[in-house]
Amino acid sequence: MKKDQFTIPKGMIYLDGNSLGPLPKAAADRVVDMMHNEWGKLLIKGWNQAGWMAQPVAIADRVGALIGAPPGSTVLGDTLSIKVYQALAAALNLNPARKVILSDKGNFPTDLYMANGLLHSIDRGHELRLVEPADVSEAINEDVAVLMLTQVDYRTGRMHDMNALTKKAQDAGAVVIWDLAHSAGAVPVDMAGSGAEFAIGCTYKYLNGGPGAPAFIYVRPDIAEQIQPALSGWLGHDAPFEFDLDYRPGAGIERMRVGTPPVIQLAALDTALDIWDGVAMADVRARSIELSELFIAEVEKRCPQLSLASPRDAQARGSQVSFGFDDGYAVIQALIARDVVGDFRAPNIMRFGFTPLYIDVDDVLRAVEILEDIMTNRTWDTPAFKQKAAVT
Ligand SMILES: *Cc1c(COP(=O)(O)O)cnc(C)c1O
Repeated sequence: MKKDQFTIPKGMIYLDGNSLGPLPKAAADRVVDMMHNEWGKLLIKGWNQAGWMAQPVAIADRVGALIGAPPGSTVLGDTLSIKVYQALAAALNLNPARKVILSDKGNFPTDLYMANGLLHSIDRGHELRLVEPADVSEAINEDVAVLMLTQVDYRTGRMHDMNALTKKAQDAGAVVIWDLAHSAGAVPVDMAGSGAEFAIGCTYKYLNGGPGAPAFIYVRPDIAEQIQPALSGWLGHDAPFEFDLDYRPGAGIERMRVGTPPVIQLAALDTALDIWDGVAMADVRARSIELSELFIAEVEKRCPQLSLASPRDAQARGSQVSFGFDDGYAVIQALIARDVVGDFRAPNIMRFGFTPLYIDVDDVLRAVEILEDIMTNRTWDTPAFKQKAAVT
């Protein structure tokens, strides 16, 4: 749909945009320009004259538009792990009488680590209750303070029904947090329509903001003023430049800011978001399903050694497809050596992201052809491909 706007090395088929999106060509120029003309020439005047200080909310509105969040309800900053902490701390305070945080065993570990770290520091007798993803709905009951889920499972691509689970949890009196790490820019999301209190996510996956791009947090506008931020940094203060000794939360979503915004990363992200202008998420979704279905059909036909680890129903999947294989790590390395980039998630998941902005039918067919060759000829079965790197 927009392939010519990305830098993808010649010959490479990049099926890993679900983990780190590729470089939008214009982002490199924008960052260089920003460095020379804003940082270089304006120096500290850039905070006012180049609008740096307002960017965390202004650019977040562009992300908000992709997840059905109204303007002024989303802010950028920090990393997703930090946003998990902020959202959960706020959610627990909205429901102080209850002690259970319900999540699932498919959740990304950092979300659970951050939750446990928070519970440990507040030490108010909370329990993090983890159930199988399929059992979340029936585990919702009147003990649950907060339902905290990642909508699309990072390993299998399985997608929770956001609206149904939000409604069930809220009917039971729980507060709801959705992690949209693998949803934003991948599937249509309607935060406002869902009624959920919080959403969080990152911008370096399907939104192509680059490694280290800031995370986002959405707070439902009607409750934003009730939140007492756990990470009460100076830029979330009502008047940071009064240098008051006491913290007073800023208006609405502003209070979810913490410290100095990553202005260079914001320049890259802002330009990356230009690519979405005029793109309908429904079209991206339709195309992603088409590519994923083709991939599944071709792999199952030509690579009988692999077993589908993602839901077969396209409506129950995000924008990635995974296959299980015990030597999946070595197969992925063999694919990368042939310029087909996917990734591996322990224990045995080979993961492929379908990002219609820059992946087309020819890419899918060529990727399967190479995968078939690797499986048939067992070219993965060599020590060089079994040597694990630090980042898989
Ligand atoms: C990618 C991802 C993260 C990453 O968190 P960072 O703090 O940005 O490193 C967290 N949670 C989920 C669900 C993810 O998919």
